[in-house]
Amino acid sequence: MSNSVVTMDKIVNLCKRRGFVFQSSEIYGGLISCYDYGPLGVELKRNVKEAWWRDTVSSRADIVGLDCSILMHPKVWEASGHLTNFSDPMVDCKLCKGRFRADQLEQARCPKKPSKRPGECEGELTEARAFNLMFKTHMGPVEDTAAAVYLRPETAQGIFVNFSNVVNTSRNKPPFGIAQIGKSFRNEITPGNFLFRTREFEQMELEYFVKPGEDDAWYEYWQQRRLQWYLDYGIDPAKLTLRAHDEDELAHYAKGCCDVEYEFPIGWQELEGIANRTDFDLKQHIEHSGKDLSFFDEQDKERYVPYVIEPSAGADRATLAFLVDAYDEDGPENDRRTVLRLHPSLAPIKVAVFPLMRKGGLPEKAQELIALLGSRVAVDYDQSGSIGRRYRRQDEAGTPLGVTVDYQTLEDETVTLRDRDTMEQERVAISELLDVVVEKTAPPPPYPKLSPGG
Ligand code: ATP
Repeated sequence: MSNSVVTMDKIVNLCKRRGFVFQSSEIYGGLISCYDYGPLGVELKRNVKEAWWRDTVSSRADIVGLDCSILMHPKVWEASGHLTNFSDPMVDCKLCKGRFRADQLEQARCPKKPSKRPGECEGELTEARAFNLMFKTHMGPVEDTAAAVYLRPETAQGIFVNFSNVVNTSRNKPPFGIAQIGKSFRNEITPGNFLFRTREFEQMELEYFVKPGEDDAWYEYWQQRRLQWYLDYGIDPAKLTLRAHDEDELAHYAKGCCDVEYEFPIGWQELEGIANRTDFDLKQHIEHSGKDLSFFDEQDKERYVPYVIEPSAGADRATLAFLVDAYDEDGPENDRRTVLRLHPSLAPIKVAVFPLMRKGGLPEKAQELIALLGSRVAVDYDQSGSIGRRYRRQDEAGTPLGVTVDYQTLEDETVTLRDRDTMEQERVAISELLDVVVEKTAPPPPYPKLSPGG
């Protein structure tokens, strides 16, 4: 096996060539920083979200899910501080009129050709000013300020404003969590680097409510658990790290914040943030809504506003990280193959079925296997081209297993099962095939500890 150098260009290329990701509105010249997930991409991203949901919600009795609307009452954003504070510092170049994030000038490039770093050309930069990242629109037929609403810039606020609804209906008490996966929108000053920074993206967020005083232990717990999730799904440990924020990076309400960082081809970057948000959000909503969002502990006869630990991940950024990490080229120079070594449970297709020949009853037998395997896992069928080429096509798609139906199959009811990573083949009885495939493509077991104590 030879580990090749992975560049963002190779990933973008593969994504387009094989139908993982397309530029949005491509036939009209494309819309910058917006992408569409193609047939393979939609499966991969669904599997990433499913893996998160399984680990965060389904496998635990103390966490429930929510699916809130994207448009919310404008007062939510007043209370949360987004209307006044959710901004990035922006500078303009007086010459090319380009607009850049003042804290990311290192990575920025001027729109003029030849492209330079802002400030390195003859153009003078303006003073930095705050640019609010929320998308504003109007609700209803009248376009006036009274009808202004915002596309949510994070999913978390939907969880906070539903805190009492969930407590009253699910009968959970701290420590417990509410999780949500959904679209968020940020009018980023400089989007870019493919799926890494877009203006429309999906978040996977958990708000975990705890009794004040128990927050430090839970903050530590969620850092370890979230880091381990990426490792369990195959991310190279050498490319993953936890980085605690310096004091001056911390949001004013946060007691602690830590990023899971991954070494993308563009360098070390945030994949997920884990923050101790204290009781800030619930208290803000108590103040602005006039509603009591505190929790009364019947057992201890004690009332308090819970503290919140928030692991907040990006589904698109995670999908990109899994793609980058899985990408490999191996084999001798004259016979290179591109292979996506995705964790089998994340792979868009789990097993592809190939009839060796397009005749002699082999396609019909292969279709029988499609029906058998398709009842439990995502399948694909391919009968065109040499068997070697068909294997290569599936390697590029990340398909972990290939089943070949040959003449021996018709005689003894066995097939060849090929492994994507080792390229080794074994003979398997059809009567055992479904179990073998399900077992080989199963997700890893969930994190063993349910709480800081064990
Ligand atoms: P950054 O510093 O990269 O702008 P952030 O600290 O503002 O990110 P959070 O508000 O913590 O990000 O959002 C949580 C997660 O949502 C991020 O870790 C990332 O995975 C994802 N995310 C945030 N902004 C974007 C974006 N513009 N495009 C894609 N994913 C994003």
